Amino acid sequence: MNKIILAFSILVTSNAYLSATPKENINLNTTSISESASQADPNSVKAKGKFQLVTLNYGYSDLEKSIDAETMEIHYSKHYLGYTNNLNNAIIGTEMENQSIETILKNLDMNNSAVRNNGGGYYNHSLYFSTMSPKGGGSPKGEIANEIKKDFGSFDELKKQLSDAGAKQFGSGWAWLILTEDGKLAVTSTANQDNPLMPNQTVKGTPILGIDVWEHAYYLRYQNKRADYLNAYFNVVDWDAVNNNYRNAIKK
Ligand code: MN
Repeated sequence: MNKIILAFSILVTSNAYLSATPKENINLNTTSISESASQADPNSVKAKGKFQLVTLNYGYSDLEKSIDAETMEIHYSKHYLGYTNNLNNAIIGTEMENQSIETILKNLDMNNSAVRNNGGGYYNHSLYFSTMSPKGGGSPKGEIANEIKKDFGSFDELKKQLSDAGAKQFGSGWAWLILTEDGKLAVTSTANQDNPLMPNQTVKGTPILGIDVWEHAYYLRYQNKRADYLNAYFNVVDWDAVNNNYRNAIKK
């Protein structure tokens, strides 16, 4: 009888030992990528050359209700930084070195693929990141609320048109709310890093809100469900920023 108890207690002890060891190792050695993303500082990311990234007034994890920290960090510190550095390199020694990004894109030679892709990428991401906020979402307010009502009938209609434009954009691209040359708001979409400022666009105007629908903007959390990402975007859209963009666009 004693032998049986002894054997049983060794079995229990050794099992407890075996199961405890790997658990301890996992706890000691694992720091998840999203944890490191939420601790990283966007303000430490600096481009080389003329054009600089827009400064984020929020951290990578602050838009978590719509966009995860890891996606935000990779998007801002890798993709956006890459477009910006590539643009800066592409304009060295040209007249574009002394021009604003708007002037560069409006007068763009569409065969200049380096400036088309990276100048577009720089402008589009500057708008995207500066038009989101942890305090965003809800219904439009201020001047833009009246303009949306005037040109779309309701915010729901605008949201539907923007979501449709983003969902139907085949492959990579952008959905836009723009101010057209005749002073009206319109929704459009573009492929790749093109935008409505560029000479080849059928619907032209000044973007005041842009939604990135490249997979890198949403794939980690939303996978193939682009429509869910588009829906979630409206929880972080910064209507104060959209109002500023609108006022600046009206002046031009
Ligand atoms: Mn992007």
